[in-house]
Amino acid sequence: MLDYHLHLWPHDQADVSLQLEQIADYCDRANAAGVVEIALTEHFFRFVQSEPIVAGLFDDADPALRASMRGYWDRHARNDLDLYVETAVAAKEAGLPVVVGLEVDFYRGRMDAVGRLLDGYPFDVLLGSVHWIDAWRFDDFDPLSMGEWSTRQVDACWDAYADAIDELAASGACDVLAHPDLIKVAGHVPERPEEWWDRLAEAAASSGMAAEVSSAGWVKPCSEQYPARGLLDRLVARGVGLTTASDAHNLDRVADRADDLRALLSSAGVDQLVGFESRKPRVVPVGPAPAPGEGR
Ligand SMILES: [Zn+2]
Ligand SMILES: [Zn+2]
Repeated sequence: MLDYHLHLWPHDQADVSLQLEQIADYCDRANAAGVVEIALTEHFFRFVQSEPIVAGLFDDADPALRASMRGYWDRHARNDLDLYVETAVAAKEAGLPVVVGLEVDFYRGRMDAVGRLLDGYPFDVLLGSVHWIDAWRFDDFDPLSMGEWSTRQVDACWDAYADAIDELAASGACDVLAHPDLIKVAGHVPERPEEWWDRLAEAAASSGMAAEVSSAGWVKPCSEQYPARGLLDRLVARGVGLTTASDAHNLDRVADRADDLRALLSSAGVDQLVGFESRKPRVVPVGPAPAPGEGR
């Protein structure tokens, strides 16, 4: 098993620091759950280096959503990407079972620029995520963002999400499609989601991206893992490589529900995952659950 989606800092924590000790604690907790390797994947937008990419991105968006997004980025973009990467590399060089990653959010029309910027860093794996539709943060539970759901058609939201995934995948900027059906996070799902599942699975398959199987959805209003079983089966049928992930933002949730993910994969006939090194995939067995009280 892997935990290939981990954050070092909660979203509400602006004053952050980087410590090898924290990364070692993540590894210990992951190991106790039978996870053999973790990826550190802090959000790109938490770093000042993202500012030229996001500048002016939503100038033509709804003013309230645009102002909310501006405030969100201003609160988050406070850290130095170079320092983050140096710390993650140091953890790896110290022998911890860590790969150096980043969660790269989707920036419409700007993924080539993102790719060029990130090419200068020694990343092992880049997650590609769609968290917003234009300036709407559909997965944020603040009143403005959630209120948007009552003004929009669910099918149109899923269309816009799938369009964004198509562009993200085609850009080749990232290696793994994170939380592939995140658009369901607040519990809004089309009556017949199959056509969107087909589109999402096809985007991953045709781009060569892997897809993430994440326990994070179980604690959200959608109350199921990402991806839904119907999407997971489509990914498997198309031969898309898979990672497993918790998307934890603190130690307590590292490797969360790894056993449930293992059971899900087993029921879908999956016994191999893909890990990454220098952005090249390699096979990692799902592996057995650890014996009670023992890590592996
Ligand atoms: Zn995410
Ligand atoms: Zn994340």
